[in-house]
Amino acid sequence: MSPIEAKQFLEKNDIKLVLAQFVDIHGVAKAKSVPVSHFDDILGNGAGFAGFAISGMGIDPHGPDFMARGDLATLSLVPWQPGYARIACDGHVNGEPWHHDARVVLKEQIRRLEQRGLGFFTGLEPEFSLLKRSEDGSVAPFDSTDVQQKPCYDYKGLTRANQFLEKLVSSLQGAGLDIFQIDHEDANGQFEVNYTFADALKSCDQFVMFKMAASEIANELGLICSFMPKPFSNLPGNGMHMHMSIGDGQRNLFEDKNDPRGLDLSKLAYQFLAGVLKHAPALAALCAPTVNSYKRLVVGRSLTGATWAPAYISYGDNNRSSMVRIPKGRLELRLPDGACNAYLATAAVIAAGLDGIDNDLDPGEPQNTNLYLLSERELKERGIGILPQNLLAAVTALESDGLIRDALGPIASTFIELKRMEWVEYMRHVSDWELKSYLEFF
Ligand code: GLU
Ligand code: MG
Repeated sequence: MSPIEAKQFLEKNDIKLVLAQFVDIHGVAKAKSVPVSHFDDILGNGAGFAGFAISGMGIDPHGPDFMARGDLATLSLVPWQPGYARIACDGHVNGEPWHHDARVVLKEQIRRLEQRGLGFFTGLEPEFSLLKRSEDGSVAPFDSTDVQQKPCYDYKGLTRANQFLEKLVSSLQGAGLDIFQIDHEDANGQFEVNYTFADALKSCDQFVMFKMAASEIANELGLICSFMPKPFSNLPGNGMHMHMSIGDGQRNLFEDKNDPRGLDLSKLAYQFLAGVLKHAPALAALCAPTVNSYKRLVVGRSLTGATWAPAYISYGDNNRSSMVRIPKGRLELRLPDGACNAYLATAAVIAAGLDGIDNDLDPGEPQNTNLYLLSERELKERGIGILPQNLLAAVTALESDGLIRDALGPIASTFIELKRMEWVEYMRHVSDWELKSYLEFF
């Protein structure tokens, strides 16, 4: 969209305010409202922010301003907020792209592929919990009749969320997302809304838009829409699976119908996959970035019949117990959860995949059995590694993975520092479980 087309778009849709939006290190949307009369400012120097006030932006209180400069390709309506538009911005400091800004970091990795004539495409699958808070402060699925043990795809569960889902879907459609499926997932109060895959940058911009819409529409209805990875220990968690392929503008280069392994994957796809498996422990820190994330990625018996979340560093044909599922001709990374910063997670995945391509790595044979059932010995015999089982282990893995750290640039050490602090804070907290288990036990 040209600046002139953008102005026509704003005028035609009676837009009064434009949200100049970016994300902090946690992938949380931040914005300023800018009256349309100052729309040009967002495209020029950008909207100004005190960088120190933004989590993980790498700017001191005496440092320069963080300038959010709009990317015209992202201008869209904010249908649940009539009169508003949104433009996703790239962070700049002193006129240069700022490498603590996650969107800038992702663009850098996308550029590495573009230099080879390649594009990275992702389809992100947001899962979320629709909840209500009771007067006593407790939180539960919003629909008190949604109590089945296997509520996945349940018609009643889906229908009773209509008021929220219909508004969410029409709003997202109005913002340019092509929604193609909506379902009730395997946890009570859990849903997933799917939209068409796109180039990786657009998918991340749309994911942020998705979260903005879902949280605000729920809030209007007096509900909570949570992307927390594991809100309830006895129910499956919220993933954000990432479907991935590489294209050259014409073809999906991850697809090869003559694949001897029968997964319709090309050599390029296997190389990329091998890179992702090799760097999985470090990727975990970015894809599953909270202490809570590791209550989703559990090894062994889970409190939820099936978690559907991966614990093992492996891939397999349509295997949902594996970290990477192959739905034929593309890869589905099941590691990311709803709390990840999609830009950083995607950037790290590209860096890992490129390592696999550059070093002609091979991922070994697919695992086509239910990995949840394998014993420790069987896993060892098959050479299957286990994902980090807590945030500290994942952050430590990231710290020792020079390739991923270098690809992310300076934001990597800021991320590691923040996540170590989060871990310490968590470890010092005395939980209800501890009180219940120990208070009067000894
Ligand atoms: N909720 C599961 C997860 O945490 C995924 C379920 C599915 O495959 O859709 O990854
Ligand atoms: Mg799902």
